[in-house]
Amino acid sequence: MEVYKFGGASVKDAEGVRNLAGIVGNARDKKLLVVISAMGKITDKLEELTKAYLFGQPNAHDIFDEIKEFHFNIINELFSNNNHPIYNDVANSFVEIEWLLEEEATDAPDYIYDQIVSIGEIISTKIVCAFLIASGLEAKWLDARNFIHTDNTHKEGKVNWEKTELEIQKRLIPLIEDSIGVTQGFIGSTSENFTTTLGRDGSDYSAAIFSACLNAESLTIWKDVSGVLNADPKWFDQTERIPQLSYHDAIELAYYGATIIHPKTIKPLQNKNIPLFVRSFLDPNAEGTNITTIKNHIPIPSFIFKVNQVLISIFPKDFSFIIEENLSEIFNLFHKHKAKINTMLNSAISFSVSFDHDAQKLESLIADLSQDYKVKYNTGMELVTIRYYNQQTIDRVTANKNIILEVKSRNTCQIVMRDKILSN
Ligand code: ASP
Ligand code: MG
Repeated sequence: MEVYKFGGASVKDAEGVRNLAGIVGNARDKKLLVVISAMGKITDKLEELTKAYLFGQPNAHDIFDEIKEFHFNIINELFSNNNHPIYNDVANSFVEIEWLLEEEATDAPDYIYDQIVSIGEIISTKIVCAFLIASGLEAKWLDARNFIHTDNTHKEGKVNWEKTELEIQKRLIPLIEDSIGVTQGFIGSTSENFTTTLGRDGSDYSAAIFSACLNAESLTIWKDVSGVLNADPKWFDQTERIPQLSYHDAIELAYYGATIIHPKTIKPLQNKNIPLFVRSFLDPNAEGTNITTIKNHIPIPSFIFKVNQVLISIFPKDFSFIIEENLSEIFNLFHKHKAKINTMLNSAISFSVSFDHDAQKLESLIADLSQDYKVKYNTGMELVTIRYYNQQTIDRVTANKNIILEVKSRNTCQIVMRDKILSN
């Protein structure tokens, strides 16, 4: 059994769906479960729709029409027969949202979010599955909510692994004995059968959950890049593909903000020793990146950039030392304000951290911290994390920068810096 995962970019238009069908068709001799995200940027649109509905904005219906039109355009391109059942099937799914939009928004916002946003995955999988069948493949649409069980935390469902594994073993395996299973990433359900979502970009995580519970031979994530690169091409013009990566390095890179794989994806695979292949759907036969247990890998330096950082320095007002008691108080405040620390350093009388600049969070965090501490902060910082650094790589990224803070461990170096011109 193998699991394939296709993200939004791979199914952003009819051409993408055809390409996906080609890749899946080439694997028709394998036992396969295919996990798919919402098409293109539809999750963003559905978030917009949810907001418009919650705030009673008059444009909710326009946004909804736009979402419907986007999908029906793709269906029109894929199915020449206007009487194909997919038209009705998708229309019926949209009707459920229509009903919801007609009612007043009285339920909890996160619950409403999940009911609306999950439709993106439901519809994308319906379209893809119908197209696979129309292309002559034996495919079966499966509702991920019957298998992925979560608690009641809407928008960030926590997986009930025991129940999920049991259902997948008992009910999913027989269903994909002799046909390709097509199911949704990102969504699950509570014990009362209410839809939940697993957090933005959660489809990789879903695919890892399915793979782990199926004891799959491998998981392949199909992306629009040639594999895991050693830097984001957005910030760096000489990127290199990393052919082999250990689970450990993959977790480290995801943790420091590499966006290629959702951070929660690796652990379930590592626990079951399931290799993760990252491949390009634009060049399906190319090598990509294999993420496995390997010990001796080639340490190509990897770079993770984060811009728009705030650097806060915190000093106890009474000039006492920064010790365990202060630190736990400070961490609690960061946790309370959901400010995720990207890097930190403490000295005897100060503690410095950097995190993503969010004006609202910053204001409320500083208000709380200021009760017991003197707080200084600087905005407009950049953070670069280098895994497998050496002096040459540090010099390269810090040219024309003032280094404000530097933290090094054996394999990882983090530098908070800003442009020289700005700081003069
Ligand atoms: N469609 C969801 C999102 O865009 C889940 C995913 O794509 O991984 O966040
Ligand atoms: Mg996505």
